[in-house]
Amino acid sequence: MTETFVTRFAPSPTGLLHLGHAYSALRAFDLAREAGGRFLLRFEDIDTGRVRAEYYAAIERDLAWLGIAWDGEPLRQSDRFSAYRGALGALMARDLVYPCFCTRKEISAEIAASASAPHGPDGPLYPGICRLIDPAERERRLGTEPHAWRIDMARASALAGPLFWEDAEAGRIEAAPGIHGDVVLARKDVPTSYHLAVTVDDAAQGVTDIVRGADLFPATHVHRLLQHLLGLPVPRYHHHRLIADEAGRRLAKRDDALSLAALREAGMSADRIAAALRADPPDIGSLRGAD
Ligand code: GLU
Repeated sequence: MTETFVTRFAPSPTGLLHLGHAYSALRAFDLAREAGGRFLLRFEDIDTGRVRAEYYAAIERDLAWLGIAWDGEPLRQSDRFSAYRGALGALMARDLVYPCFCTRKEISAEIAASASAPHGPDGPLYPGICRLIDPAERERRLGTEPHAWRIDMARASALAGPLFWEDAEAGRIEAAPGIHGDVVLARKDVPTSYHLAVTVDDAAQGVTDIVRGADLFPATHVHRLLQHLLGLPVPRYHHHRLIADEAGRRLAKRDDALSLAALREAGMSADRIAAALRADPPDIGSLRGAD
């Protein structure tokens, strides 16, 4: 039988799950169960400096406590570096990426010196310093200097032409990857970046439906382009609202009081949390005070 619905929850083991993660995980899990599909767990642990070993088990424990069961073994992105190198190699072979030797400091100085630095969803765009290095110098520096790899966005988008994706909440969206500029596809310290790893893995895991927060909506522009360039299938997207506390503030990782572990230790039941998160709109206020 071919899978018609496969989704995933993809946390980074850099902290405890909080209510925002639980909301996203429940949405993905519920959609998979309703569709008779599969729900996968993937640890996005490429950021080796920030990952802590204890959070893998803590995340699994919190999900299980909430009644969320994943299919198969969780995937770890740290086991997948060779797949990312392969994808990057395919882009190198087509001259769609270039090495970037810049330090953060050099990039900031260049941006500060320019009268009107263009901004993207994540701040000022990379000003293209290393795109213009002549080939002989690039070759020489490649052998001796640490470097990231950036996409040549203008070239890649021109090659791809117009691209679209279907978003369950927002409808048919035309991808505009150019708003991100020449994003990093492989970091100096890690042979990938979030954008490359997520695109390669969603395809490798056969994910048909990506359920994630609206904060990642802009990233989808880049993912859609990478899918095209790497010849990967295009999943459907479900970018959901970000849940907020009663005062309308977004929940963030630093809100430790709203971690699932803290709520459990305070005596809150998993059923009550799941019910509050499944309410429409989610009812975070009802979670203040113990059972
Ligand atoms: N690892 C990302 C996060 O924890 C989620 C990535 C995704 O769902 O595409 O925010």
